[in-house]
Amino acid sequence: MKGPTTTRLKIAVRGAVQGVGFRPFVHRLAGELGLAGWVNNSSQGVFLEAEGPRGRLEEFLARLQTEKPPRSFIESLECWWLDGTGCAGFEIRASKSGGGKTAIIMPDLATCAQCVEEMLDARDRRFMYPFTNCTHCGPRFSIVEALPYDRANTSMKRFAMCAECEEEYRDPGNRRFHAQPNACPKCGPHLELQDGGGAARARRHEALLEAAQSVREGKILALKGIGGFQLIVDARDEGAVRRLRERKQREEKPFAMMYPSLAAARADCRVGPAEARLLASPESPIVLLERRAGEAAWVAPGNPNAGVMLPYSPLHHLLMLELKFPVVATSGNLSDEPMCIEEGEARQRLGKIADVFLTHNRPIVRAVDDSVARVVLGGEQILRRARGYAPLPLRLRAGRPARALETGGAVLAVGGQLKSTVALGIGPQVFVSQHIGDLETLEAYEAFLGVIRDLERLYEAEPRTIACDGHPGYLSTQFAAGLAAGKAGRRGVFVQHHIAHVLACAAENELAPPLLGVSWDGTGHGLDGTVWGGEFFLVSETACRRVAHLRQFRLAGGEQAVKEPRRAALGMLYEVFGEGGLAAGGLPPGRLFGAAELAGLTAVLKGGVNSPLTSSAGRLFDGVAALLGLRETVRYEGQAAMELEFAIGGIKTEESYGFEIASPEQTGGGSMLVVDWACLLKGILADLKREVPAGLISAKFHNALAEVIVAVAKRIGQPQVALSGGCFQNRYLTERAAARLAQEGFRPYWHQRIPPNDGGIAFGQIVATLMGVPYETVETACQDGCARR
Ligand SMILES: [Zn+2]
Ligand SMILES: [Zn+2]
Repeated sequence: MKGPTTTRLKIAVRGAVQGVGFRPFVHRLAGELGLAGWVNNSSQGVFLEAEGPRGRLEEFLARLQTEKPPRSFIESLECWWLDGTGCAGFEIRASKSGGGKTAIIMPDLATCAQCVEEMLDARDRRFMYPFTNCTHCGPRFSIVEALPYDRANTSMKRFAMCAECEEEYRDPGNRRFHAQPNACPKCGPHLELQDGGGAARARRHEALLEAAQSVREGKILALKGIGGFQLIVDARDEGAVRRLRERKQREEKPFAMMYPSLAAARADCRVGPAEARLLASPESPIVLLERRAGEAAWVAPGNPNAGVMLPYSPLHHLLMLELKFPVVATSGNLSDEPMCIEEGEARQRLGKIADVFLTHNRPIVRAVDDSVARVVLGGEQILRRARGYAPLPLRLRAGRPARALETGGAVLAVGGQLKSTVALGIGPQVFVSQHIGDLETLEAYEAFLGVIRDLERLYEAEPRTIACDGHPGYLSTQFAAGLAAGKAGRRGVFVQHHIAHVLACAAENELAPPLLGVSWDGTGHGLDGTVWGGEFFLVSETACRRVAHLRQFRLAGGEQAVKEPRRAALGMLYEVFGEGGLAAGGLPPGRLFGAAELAGLTAVLKGGVNSPLTSSAGRLFDGVAALLGLRETVRYEGQAAMELEFAIGGIKTEESYGFEIASPEQTGGGSMLVVDWACLLKGILADLKREVPAGLISAKFHNALAEVIVAVAKRIGQPQVALSGGCFQNRYLTERAAARLAQEGFRPYWHQRIPPNDGGIAFGQIVATLMGVPYETVETACQDGCARR
């Protein structure tokens, strides 16, 4: 099988790039590097695609940012790596007028270098002013109340500009011309340091200094940031971090850190060029970096990575300048609830967590969490899309789904349950909301409703099609069913969870069917009523057919098994060896379970009561982690799988375990392939008996899973293979599978701008809906709006 020989780099640039010679500059640079492609202008920014060898495209991307025309300014830049189209020459295309009717709301942008410089200049009138911004930087999405984006429609409307600010605002030659949140110490917002009761302890710069002092003393600071309150403690102080964990009820999940500078981050972590770009970008996400050994292990126990960000607001810059050491900077909430944005609410919800509150009088209109990104296979991958990215739209590739959206009216997709996002499709664009959180508390559900209202209102959309997950227990599904039933002419569409994953990956990579979709995650409601999670789909223009899955096994206790990987291990052993599976597998008595517990769970498995069948790959990871003694019960979602991956460390091996693929005949004449991992399990047990180190067993297990993907791909025979689902947050698995697929002549694709986890479900639901009704797995049932059983 032969794939495209060139790579295409697609870039969306927003900012002051119109009328400043940006397009001719792009043309010249592309010519110099011998790249083909095109560039155009639209009311929404400059879009360009360049094709050529990977190395030259990387140089192009770097020089685009460093050599851009002096009067231009890049406020936001998103790029994707796609297959080349084989075009020749580089052209400047005519300005695009279509598709620009929908106003674009810019995301919140990190403070620009000039604003930082001014803020640190003792002669400047904004010296040490924590709310400075200009036309190219500062808050946007978090302060917009309505469109158009004018000061009167933002939370800055309560601040009347002073004469000097007004003059800047009206002067077309000024950096602050029409900068809606323009402010200065005289007329703008101010800081206040409050105790838990809301009493002011200090104001203005004093408040900042006292807040910094509290952090130095090991106290927990609640800071009102850009998109919500953050909790901040000294990352070097183990006791302070432990206190934060206890109070926030977040026992082991890694915390993100903010470093005072890129240089400081480099001292503790490995930062490659792509990571450095991300860290310093206007989007300024949390970037997952490999930590140098021993650095602040308590921030992310058992995790070789660290989530690192740099100061992105003037307030953060000033605080970090004062502190000069890394701090834990985590969302101001209790475990997975949404962030607090309002003072009263913050005092109520964070009162038992934070010692002091550094707040200010610029209201936050909506919660926008920090985004999370990393570099995988040489490109960027967004794991949580929020500040800096939301609510910028993704444009669908020209084709049937895009046409369906343009002619069929707006579509609302409400996503899944965990890592919830929602999406709104209008015209050829899909607006994906900021990360909302897990829809498991009232606060989260209310935030979810708020985000939907918000999207519909801002974009004046009245979607008649509401897409949701097929899981009848998801709050989002119940909401969608209610919405569809509430008004005549609305229809609800169920999109199977793993199909949504696959189509999200295919759409963002601009793939045209046919393709093989690999959808591996923890849990999703399957079309046959079992729990899916290790699925393969053959995607064609008109259908998405499940063609293979992992062998099923039972999970004793259902949901409880998600929290206890040892139950997944038991289910796997029971499936392969039957009753007495633990002993048959060679595990010593008392391993994983006490005798009474084991008898009880075995009875549950035997009876098949409250022990759903699952084909989940995520649970397979859990089970193996438990067998290896790495993790028998988890404190947060995905912990066992992560620790299994991290156990590999630097081990490099080509060794693997065997498995079998049952052919259609063997499964009783159906056309479904079943991947039987019994052999794999036996191999692991044999290695355990030989006392092979856990890290090596883990590497062999990961390698085997990559081979499973290759083997199924060979049986299906489609060159394009899309990898999606939470399991592909696993870097080793993603890189190994992609490399092995490529070696065997396939073309692997993975997520870049849309998260591989459930944060990508809403986007996938929109794509699935647009692909139309004949899609056997998208059901347009539910005239009465009831959830499908
Ligand atoms: Zn600025
Ligand atoms: Zn002013």
